[in-house]
Amino acid sequence: MDYVVAIDQGTTSTRAIVFDRRGRPVAVGQLEHRQIFPRAGWVEHDPMEIWANTREAIGQALAKADITRYDVAAVGITNQRETVVVWDRATGRPIHNAIVWQDTRTQAIVDELAADGGVDRFADVTGLPLATYFSATKIAWLLDNVEGARERAEAGELLFGTTDTWVLWNLTGGARGGVHVTDVTNASRTLLMDLRTLDWRDDLLRAFRVPRAMLPDIRSSSEVYGTAGPRSLLRETPIAGILGDQQAATFGQAAFDRGESKNTYGTGNFLIFNTGEEIVRSRHGLITTVAYRRGDDAPRYALEGSIAVTGSLIQWLRDNLGIIRSAPEVESLAASVDDNGGVVIVPAFSGLFAPHWRPDARGAILGLTRYATKAHIARAALESVAFQTREVLDAVSADAGITLDELRVDGGMVANDLLMQFQADILDVPVLRPEVAETTALGAAYAAGLAVGFWSGLDELRSLWREDRRWHPAMPDAERAARLARWRDAVPRTFDWER
Ligand code: ADP
Repeated sequence: MDYVVAIDQGTTSTRAIVFDRRGRPVAVGQLEHRQIFPRAGWVEHDPMEIWANTREAIGQALAKADITRYDVAAVGITNQRETVVVWDRATGRPIHNAIVWQDTRTQAIVDELAADGGVDRFADVTGLPLATYFSATKIAWLLDNVEGARERAEAGELLFGTTDTWVLWNLTGGARGGVHVTDVTNASRTLLMDLRTLDWRDDLLRAFRVPRAMLPDIRSSSEVYGTAGPRSLLRETPIAGILGDQQAATFGQAAFDRGESKNTYGTGNFLIFNTGEEIVRSRHGLITTVAYRRGDDAPRYALEGSIAVTGSLIQWLRDNLGIIRSAPEVESLAASVDDNGGVVIVPAFSGLFAPHWRPDARGAILGLTRYATKAHIARAALESVAFQTREVLDAVSADAGITLDELRVDGGMVANDLLMQFQADILDVPVLRPEVAETTALGAAYAAGLAVGFWSGLDELRSLWREDRRWHPAMPDAERAARLARWRDAVPRTFDWER
């Protein structure tokens, strides 16, 4: 058996990727699913569509690699985090569409809970602020709004899962013997798990009115949970790894130890900083989360900085302003001028996330003069990505007392050379891009492969990490300081806009 298959159940699509022993992607199957927007602020997915796509993606990947289940040592799962599915244990039918992580319909539940103790009410236990983003209020909403759901959940007839659990349960047989399990990284995003005990907590379940009977068992990120069911193309293959997408990317970047980190540049940016066995409470606007757990080993924790708008600002330049035709074009447009011409963009489109957490902020373009052109705006857009990342890294340094000596990056925007150079300049540390850009799926493959002995251990995985490109800081200190001062001056000017 020479391969491991990773299933990446993402926000926009589901992919299956076949990896070889050297961690190289051999074949990919991919299908997009519908984004369902019933009202402003509501975002749903159809779980049955996702499961059908998962099966088809597996078929595509095996066919393209020209292999069968006999060639596959293990399967790993990674997934969009926080998204909630509730289904009937006996029939396998969801009781409602999945409520997606971006969905804000539960703000009233959040406000009600925050009225008693503030948004950090559960932060000490869970590592998270109260927010619509996390799973708990979404489960409560389903139980309150689907006819009869609360009674059925209490009677043990309904099951809850994030999409890792939904895929695993179906893959392992569904209503006929499906395994109902999640991993510590996904459970750490629900607001229902205690970071220390890694178990559901009764007081949290009471506060959010979620019956324990519907919850999956919380297991490690790397162990055999079960085998694929008799109707699967992968039947009898062990499913042996689960990691939420950002944690999977961290694992795929081989950032296994304290002080190691990665930054993913996608629609938004997510920086994860490994704090080892220590739970570090953020005082500077970061989330505390589980990085991974291997079998019975001690869990590894992390600080996470989530930035809402980075790649989506480039989409906005393309779709709303029309100043570029494709995302990569932003680079040549920005490179056509020597500097930003005094323009600064603070893309607080939906408020600011880490490290500010200001829902009242809205986006601004500052410093406009008659001289400014679309090229300056393109440049300022790219610079805003680097500045926001610098703020998150400063928060990490302040919380963890560690200064990074390099930054490992991945995601769609790291193809942008100008951005990566500016990022190195503004951070004053080298920025490193790996050869395998599919770090999320790779991390899930690693977790599964480790559990079945396909790879020998973390040292072997570290040795598979290959640098593709490195950007060295080249900006004079005085210039960096001046530019950072400008940015820090700009940010608060977006506050208190939306009240
Ligand atoms: P996600 O996983 O969140 O869907 P990806 O990692 O695929 O995102 O990255 C896509 C994002 O990167 C898009 O928002 C797009 O605007 C941006 N992007 C893609 N290529 C470039 C580029 N060359 N320069 C700047 N931004 C880019």
